[in-house]
Amino acid sequence: MSKINNSDNNSGEKQDILSLSLSELQELLEGMGEKKFRAKQIFQWLHVRRVFDFDEMTDISVQLRCRLKENFCINGLFVQKKLESSIDNTVKYLYRLSDGNFVETVLMDYSFGRSICISTQVGCKMGCGFCASAIAGFVRNLEPSELLMQIYQTERDAGVRVSGVVLMGIGEPLDNYSNVMKFLRLLSDKDGSGLSLRHVTLSTCGIVPRIYELAQEKLQLTLAVSLHSPDNVRRSEIMPVNRAYNIERLIEACRHYISVTGRRITFEYAVIDGVNSSAEDAKKLADLLRGMNCHVNLIPVNRVKERSYRTSSGGAAAFAQKLGRLGINATVRRTLGSDIEAACGQLRRDAGLADMQ
Ligand code: SAH
Repeated sequence: MSKINNSDNNSGEKQDILSLSLSELQELLEGMGEKKFRAKQIFQWLHVRRVFDFDEMTDISVQLRCRLKENFCINGLFVQKKLESSIDNTVKYLYRLSDGNFVETVLMDYSFGRSICISTQVGCKMGCGFCASAIAGFVRNLEPSELLMQIYQTERDAGVRVSGVVLMGIGEPLDNYSNVMKFLRLLSDKDGSGLSLRHVTLSTCGIVPRIYELAQEKLQLTLAVSLHSPDNVRRSEIMPVNRAYNIERLIEACRHYISVTGRRITFEYAVIDGVNSSAEDAKKLADLLRGMNCHVNLIPVNRVKERSYRTSSGGAAAFAQKLGRLGINATVRRTLGSDIEAACGQLRRDAGLADMQ
Protein backbone atom coordinates (compact mmCIF):
# COMPACT_ATOMS: atom_id res chain seq x y z
CA MET A 1 0.00 0.00 0.00
CA SER A 2 1.37 3.41 -0.90
CA LYS A 3 1.63 5.84 1.98
CA ILE A 4 0.58 9.45 1.94
CA ASN A 5 2.80 11.26 4.37
CA ASN A 6 1.63 14.31 6.24
CA SER A 7 4.92 14.70 7.99
CA ASP A 8 8.05 12.83 8.86
CA ASN A 9 6.41 11.83 12.16
CA ASN A 10 4.37 9.18 10.43
CA SER A 11 6.92 7.44 8.28
CA GLY A 12 7.24 3.77 8.98
CA GLU A 13 4.11 3.77 11.13
CA LYS A 14 0.46 3.15 10.46
CA GLN A 15 -1.26 5.78 8.35
CA ASP A 16 -2.97 8.53 10.38
CA ILE A 17 -6.47 8.06 8.95
CA LEU A 18 -8.02 11.23 10.41
CA SER A 19 -5.50 13.35 8.52
CA LEU A 20 -6.53 11.89 5.16
CA SER A 21 -8.85 13.62 2.74
CA LEU A 22 -11.69 11.58 1.31
CA SER A 23 -9.91 11.28 -2.04
CA GLU A 24 -6.69 10.11 -0.37
CA LEU A 25 -8.65 7.51 1.57
CA GLN A 26 -10.41 6.39 -1.60
CA GLU A 27 -7.09 5.98 -3.36
CA LEU A 28 -5.62 3.96 -0.52
CA LEU A 29 -8.64 1.68 -0.21
CA GLU A 30 -8.73 1.08 -3.94
CA GLY A 31 -5.05 0.19 -3.70
CA MET A 32 -6.06 -2.42 -1.10
CA GLY A 33 -8.58 -3.86 -3.57
CA GLU A 34 -11.61 -2.38 -1.80
CA LYS A 35 -14.57 -0.58 -3.37
CA LYS A 36 -14.34 3.21 -3.53
CA PHE A 37 -17.62 3.81 -1.65
CA ARG A 38 -16.14 2.19 1.47
CA ALA A 39 -13.91 5.24 1.86
CA LYS A 40 -16.91 7.55 2.16
CA GLN A 41 -18.53 5.27 4.74
CA ILE A 42 -15.37 5.27 6.85
CA PHE A 43 -14.84 9.02 6.38
CA GLN A 44 -18.35 9.66 7.69
CA TRP A 45 -17.90 7.31 10.64
CA LEU A 46 -14.89 9.40 11.61
CA HIS A 47 -15.91 12.94 10.78
CA VAL A 48 -19.70 12.91 11.08
CA ARG A 49 -20.50 10.21 13.62
CA ARG A 50 -17.16 10.72 15.42
CA VAL A 51 -16.55 7.02 15.99
CA PHE A 52 -12.89 6.42 16.78
CA ASP A 53 -12.81 2.65 17.01
CA PHE A 54 -12.84 0.59 13.81
CA ASP A 55 -14.79 -2.14 15.63
CA GLU A 56 -17.73 0.22 16.06
CA MET A 57 -18.05 0.80 12.30
CA THR A 58 -20.83 -1.73 12.04
CA ASP A 59 -21.59 -1.51 8.33
CA ILE A 60 -17.97 -2.39 7.50
CA SER A 61 -17.18 -6.11 7.30
CA VAL A 62 -15.18 -7.66 10.13
CA GLN A 63 -12.51 -8.59 7.61
CA LEU A 64 -12.12 -5.02 6.36
CA ARG A 65 -12.11 -3.68 9.93
CA CYS A 66 -9.14 -5.97 10.60
CA ARG A 67 -7.32 -4.68 7.54
CA LEU A 68 -8.06 -1.11 8.59
CA LYS A 69 -6.56 -1.79 12.02
CA GLU A 70 -3.44 -3.24 10.42
CA ASN A 71 -2.91 -0.28 8.13
CA PHE A 72 -4.34 2.76 9.89
CA CYS A 73 -4.38 4.38 13.30
CA ILE A 74 -6.84 6.86 14.79
CA ASN A 75 -4.78 9.60 16.36
CA GLY A 76 -6.62 10.22 19.65
CA LEU A 77 -6.23 12.95 22.25
CA PHE A 78 -6.67 12.29 25.94
CA VAL A 79 -8.02 14.74 28.50
CA GLN A 80 -5.15 15.13 30.96
CA LYS A 81 -6.72 17.99 32.85
CA LYS A 82 -9.85 20.10 32.57
CA LEU A 83 -10.45 23.45 34.25
CA GLU A 84 -13.76 25.28 34.39
CA SER A 85 -13.92 29.01 34.95
CA SER A 86 -16.01 30.20 37.85
CA ILE A 87 -16.59 33.64 36.29
CA ASP A 88 -17.80 32.63 32.82
CA ASN A 89 -18.48 29.28 31.15
CA THR A 90 -15.00 28.92 29.72
CA VAL A 91 -13.49 25.44 29.91
CA LYS A 92 -9.81 24.76 29.33
CA TYR A 93 -8.54 21.31 28.34
CA LEU A 94 -5.00 20.10 28.64
CA TYR A 95 -4.77 17.36 26.02
CA ARG A 96 -2.13 14.65 25.94
CA LEU A 97 -1.10 13.70 22.41
CA SER A 98 -0.24 10.16 21.35
CA ASP A 99 3.51 10.87 21.64
CA GLY A 100 3.18 12.21 25.22
CA ASN A 101 3.30 15.90 24.34
CA PHE A 102 0.62 18.31 25.56
CA VAL A 103 -1.43 21.16 24.13
CA GLU A 104 -4.26 23.32 25.46
CA THR A 105 -7.68 23.96 23.93
CA VAL A 106 -10.31 26.41 25.19
CA LEU A 107 -14.08 26.19 24.86
CA MET A 108 -15.75 29.60 25.12
CA ASP A 109 -19.36 30.60 25.63
CA TYR A 110 -20.70 33.57 23.68
CA SER A 111 -24.25 34.80 23.33
CA PHE A 112 -24.29 33.48 19.73
CA GLY A 113 -22.98 30.02 20.65
CA ARG A 114 -19.91 28.06 21.60
CA SER A 115 -16.55 28.84 20.11
CA ILE A 116 -13.35 26.84 20.41
CA CYS A 117 -9.77 28.07 20.48
CA ILE A 118 -7.34 25.43 19.25
CA SER A 119 -3.56 25.10 19.31
CA THR A 120 -1.62 24.55 16.09
CA GLN A 121 1.82 23.58 17.41
CA VAL A 122 3.37 22.03 20.50
CA GLY A 123 5.01 25.21 21.80
CA CYS A 124 5.92 28.16 19.61
CA LYS A 125 9.06 29.54 17.92
CA MET A 126 7.88 33.11 17.55
CA GLY A 127 9.04 34.40 20.93
CA CYS A 128 6.54 37.25 21.45
CA GLY A 129 7.61 38.83 24.74
CA PHE A 130 4.14 39.04 26.32
CA CYS A 131 2.94 35.53 25.41
CA ALA A 132 3.23 32.44 27.62
CA SER A 133 3.11 29.99 24.70
CA ALA A 134 6.69 30.68 23.66
CA ILE A 135 8.26 30.32 27.11
CA ALA A 136 8.84 26.55 27.04
CA GLY A 137 10.06 26.66 23.42
CA PHE A 138 8.95 24.76 20.34
CA VAL A 139 8.62 20.99 19.98
CA ARG A 140 6.70 20.14 16.81
CA ASN A 141 3.83 20.91 14.46
CA LEU A 142 0.41 19.40 15.07
CA GLU A 143 -0.97 17.02 12.46
CA PRO A 144 -4.31 17.75 10.73
CA SER A 145 -5.84 14.93 12.84
CA GLU A 146 -4.62 16.57 16.06
CA LEU A 147 -6.13 19.90 15.01
CA LEU A 148 -9.47 18.22 14.25
CA MET A 149 -9.41 16.06 17.36
CA GLN A 150 -9.19 19.11 19.62
CA ILE A 151 -12.63 20.01 18.26
CA TYR A 152 -14.08 16.51 18.15
CA GLN A 153 -12.96 15.51 21.66
CA THR A 154 -13.98 18.81 23.22
CA GLU A 155 -17.42 18.65 21.60
CA ARG A 156 -17.84 15.10 22.82
CA ASP A 157 -16.63 15.83 26.35
CA ALA A 158 -18.72 18.97 26.76
CA GLY A 159 -21.74 17.60 24.89
CA VAL A 160 -21.92 20.63 22.62
CA ARG A 161 -21.45 21.57 18.97
CA VAL A 162 -19.24 24.57 18.38
CA SER A 163 -20.35 27.26 15.98
CA GLY A 164 -16.96 28.87 15.60
CA VAL A 165 -13.29 27.88 15.56
CA VAL A 166 -10.38 30.21 16.25
CA LEU A 167 -6.78 29.26 15.57
CA MET A 168 -5.43 31.34 18.44
CA GLY A 169 -4.10 28.78 20.86
CA ILE A 170 -0.48 27.69 21.27
CA GLY A 171 1.64 28.07 18.14
CA GLU A 172 1.77 30.04 14.92
CA PRO A 173 -0.72 28.62 12.38
CA LEU A 174 1.16 29.95 9.34
CA ASP A 175 4.35 28.26 10.61
CA ASN A 176 2.47 24.94 10.24
CA TYR A 177 1.01 25.94 6.90
CA SER A 178 0.36 22.68 5.04
CA ASN A 179 -1.15 20.86 8.02
CA VAL A 180 -3.36 23.84 8.83
CA MET A 181 -4.58 24.05 5.21
CA LYS A 182 -5.33 20.36 5.20
CA PHE A 183 -7.18 20.69 8.49
CA LEU A 184 -9.28 23.54 7.08
CA ARG A 185 -10.18 21.47 4.02
CA LEU A 186 -11.17 18.53 6.23
CA LEU A 187 -13.16 20.69 8.63
CA SER A 188 -15.16 22.29 5.83
CA ASP A 189 -15.60 19.11 3.75
CA LYS A 190 -19.30 18.64 2.99
CA ASP A 191 -18.87 14.88 3.52
CA GLY A 192 -17.35 15.56 6.94
CA SER A 193 -18.16 18.19 9.59
CA GLY A 194 -19.02 20.69 6.88
CA LEU A 195 -18.23 23.78 8.97
CA SER A 196 -18.24 26.90 6.82
CA LEU A 197 -14.86 28.64 6.95
CA ARG A 198 -16.81 31.86 7.52
CA HIS A 199 -16.94 30.64 11.12
CA VAL A 200 -13.17 30.22 11.36
CA THR A 201 -10.59 32.82 12.37
CA LEU A 202 -6.88 32.27 11.81
CA SER A 203 -4.53 34.49 13.78
CA THR A 204 -0.96 35.14 12.69
CA CYS A 205 1.94 37.12 14.12
CA GLY A 206 2.69 38.23 10.55
CA ILE A 207 4.68 35.73 8.49
CA VAL A 208 4.51 37.80 5.33
CA PRO A 209 5.22 35.21 2.57
CA ARG A 210 2.56 32.94 4.05
CA ILE A 211 -0.01 35.74 4.01
CA TYR A 212 0.53 36.00 0.23
CA GLU A 213 0.21 32.22 -0.05
CA LEU A 214 -2.96 32.23 2.04
CA ALA A 215 -4.46 34.99 -0.13
CA GLN A 216 -4.15 32.65 -3.13
CA GLU A 217 -6.20 29.98 -1.34
CA LYS A 218 -9.13 32.47 -1.39
CA LEU A 219 -10.70 30.99 1.72
CA GLN A 220 -13.73 32.50 3.39
CA LEU A 221 -12.06 32.54 6.82
CA THR A 222 -11.28 35.67 8.83
CA LEU A 223 -7.61 36.55 8.98
CA ALA A 224 -6.51 38.15 12.24
CA VAL A 225 -3.09 39.79 12.34
CA SER A 226 -1.29 40.42 15.62
CA LEU A 227 0.03 43.94 15.22
CA HIS A 228 0.54 45.18 18.79
CA SER A 229 2.52 48.29 17.80
CA PRO A 230 2.65 50.71 14.86
CA ASP A 231 6.35 51.35 15.49
CA ASN A 232 9.07 49.08 14.08
CA VAL A 233 11.54 49.54 16.93
CA ARG A 234 8.92 48.80 19.56
CA ARG A 235 7.32 45.96 17.59
CA SER A 236 10.69 44.28 17.07
CA GLU A 237 11.29 44.47 20.82
CA ILE A 238 8.06 42.68 21.69
CA MET A 239 7.66 40.55 18.54
CA PRO A 240 10.90 39.16 17.08
CA VAL A 241 9.07 38.26 13.83
CA ASN A 242 9.10 41.99 13.03
CA ARG A 243 12.88 41.80 12.49
CA ALA A 244 12.25 39.51 9.53
CA TYR A 245 9.00 41.10 8.27
CA ASN A 246 8.60 44.69 9.30
CA ILE A 247 5.40 46.72 9.59
CA GLU A 248 5.57 48.16 6.07
CA ARG A 249 5.92 44.69 4.51
CA LEU A 250 3.21 43.32 6.77
CA ILE A 251 0.71 46.04 5.91
CA GLU A 252 1.49 45.68 2.20
CA ALA A 253 0.76 41.93 2.50
CA CYS A 254 -2.47 42.69 4.35
CA ARG A 255 -3.60 45.13 1.66
CA HIS A 256 -2.87 42.48 -0.94
CA TYR A 257 -4.82 39.90 1.09
CA ILE A 258 -7.83 42.19 1.32
CA SER A 259 -7.80 43.01 -2.37
CA VAL A 260 -7.46 39.35 -3.47
CA THR A 261 -9.98 37.85 -1.06
CA GLY A 262 -12.39 40.75 -0.57
CA ARG A 263 -12.31 39.90 3.13
CA ARG A 264 -11.84 42.36 5.99
CA ILE A 265 -8.80 41.81 8.22
CA THR A 266 -8.87 42.01 12.01
CA PHE A 267 -5.83 43.59 13.64
CA GLU A 268 -5.20 42.37 17.17
CA TYR A 269 -3.57 44.77 19.55
CA ALA A 270 -2.72 43.82 23.13
CA VAL A 271 -2.82 47.10 25.03
CA ILE A 272 0.21 47.37 27.31
CA ASP A 273 0.93 50.25 29.70
CA GLY A 274 4.05 52.18 28.78
CA VAL A 275 4.59 50.11 25.63
CA ASN A 276 1.96 50.77 22.95
CA SER A 277 -0.96 52.81 24.29
CA SER A 278 0.13 56.46 24.14
CA ALA A 279 -1.57 59.20 22.10
CA GLU A 280 1.34 58.98 19.69
CA ASP A 281 0.80 55.22 19.27
CA ALA A 282 -2.87 55.87 18.50
CA LYS A 283 -1.96 58.51 15.91
CA LYS A 284 0.63 56.25 14.22
CA LEU A 285 -1.75 53.30 14.23
CA ALA A 286 -4.55 55.38 12.74
CA ASP A 287 -2.23 56.67 9.99
CA LEU A 288 -1.14 53.12 9.23
CA LEU A 289 -4.62 51.65 8.93
CA ARG A 290 -6.65 54.55 7.55
CA GLY A 291 -8.68 53.55 4.51
CA MET A 292 -8.08 49.83 4.94
CA ASN A 293 -10.96 47.35 5.11
CA CYS A 294 -10.08 46.29 8.64
CA HIS A 295 -11.17 46.18 12.22
CA VAL A 296 -9.04 46.72 15.33
CA ASN A 297 -9.54 44.34 18.22
CA LEU A 298 -7.94 45.57 21.44
CA ILE A 299 -6.97 43.03 24.11
CA PRO A 300 -6.14 44.22 27.64
CA VAL A 301 -2.85 42.35 28.01
CA ASN A 302 -3.34 39.19 30.04
CA ARG A 303 -1.09 38.31 32.92
CA VAL A 304 1.81 35.96 32.31
CA LYS A 305 3.59 35.31 35.59
CA GLU A 306 7.12 35.33 34.13
CA ARG A 307 6.52 38.78 32.60
CA SER A 308 5.61 42.20 33.96
CA TYR A 309 3.35 43.54 31.19
CA ARG A 310 0.17 45.23 32.44
CA THR A 311 -2.87 47.17 31.24
CA SER A 312 -4.28 49.59 33.78
CA SER A 313 -8.00 49.37 34.41
CA GLY A 314 -9.82 51.06 31.55
CA GLY A 315 -6.59 51.30 29.53
CA ALA A 316 -7.93 49.41 26.53
CA ALA A 317 -11.19 51.39 26.48
CA ALA A 318 -9.26 54.66 26.68
CA PHE A 319 -7.06 53.58 23.75
CA ALA A 320 -10.20 52.62 21.79
CA GLN A 321 -11.53 56.14 22.36
CA LYS A 322 -8.29 57.70 21.17
CA LEU A 323 -8.52 55.62 17.99
CA GLY A 324 -12.20 56.43 17.56
CA ARG A 325 -11.44 60.16 17.62
CA LEU A 326 -8.94 59.52 14.82
CA GLY A 327 -11.58 57.73 12.72
CA ILE A 328 -10.48 54.14 13.46
CA ASN A 329 -13.10 51.73 14.70
CA ALA A 330 -11.84 49.55 17.53
CA THR A 331 -13.49 47.16 19.97
CA VAL A 332 -12.18 45.74 23.21
CA ARG A 333 -12.09 41.93 23.30
CA ARG A 334 -13.91 40.40 26.24
CA THR A 335 -11.50 38.52 28.47
CA LEU A 336 -12.68 34.97 29.06
CA GLY A 337 -11.35 32.35 31.44
CA SER A 338 -8.70 34.53 33.08
CA ASP A 339 -9.15 32.69 36.43
CA ILE A 340 -8.04 29.44 34.77
CA GLU A 341 -5.31 31.02 32.61
CA ALA A 342 -7.34 30.37 29.47
CA ALA A 343 -7.23 33.89 28.03
CA CYS A 344 -5.22 35.10 25.02
CA GLY A 345 -1.53 34.41 25.41
CA GLN A 346 -1.90 32.34 28.59
CA LEU A 347 -1.83 28.86 27.05
CA ARG A 348 1.24 26.66 27.41
CA ARG A 349 2.37 23.24 26.33
CA ASP A 350 3.58 22.49 29.88
CA ALA A 351 0.56 23.97 31.66
CA GLY A 352 -0.18 22.58 35.06
CA LEU A 353 2.14 19.64 34.56
CA ALA A 354 4.26 20.44 37.55
CA ASP A 355 1.39 19.86 39.98
CA MET A 356 0.46 16.56 38.33
CA GLN A 357 3.81 14.81 38.92
N1 SAH B 1 0.55 32.91 16.83
C1 SAH B 1 -0.70 33.53 16.54
C2 SAH B 1 -1.81 33.09 17.50
C3 SAH B 1 -1.49 33.40 18.91
S1 SAH B 1 -2.55 33.87 20.16
C4 SAH B 1 -0.54 35.04 16.61
O1 SAH B 1 0.51 35.50 17.03
O2 SAH B 1 -1.46 35.74 16.21
C5 SAH B 1 -3.76 34.93 19.73
C6 SAH B 1 -3.56 36.38 20.15
O3 SAH B 1 -3.24 36.57 21.55
C7 SAH B 1 -2.42 37.03 19.37
O4 SAH B 1 -2.85 38.27 18.90
C8 SAH B 1 -1.37 37.21 20.42
O5 SAH B 1 -0.43 38.20 20.09
C9 SAH B 1 -2.23 37.57 21.62
N2 SAH B 1 -1.53 37.48 22.91
C10 SAH B 1 -0.43 36.78 23.23
N3 SAH B 1 -0.10 36.98 24.53
C11 SAH B 1 -1.02 37.82 25.04
C12 SAH B 1 -1.26 38.38 26.32
N4 SAH B 1 -0.45 38.11 27.35
N5 SAH B 1 -2.32 39.20 26.47
C13 SAH B 1 -3.15 39.46 25.44
N6 SAH B 1 -3.00 38.95 24.21
C14 SAH B 1 -1.95 38.14 24.00
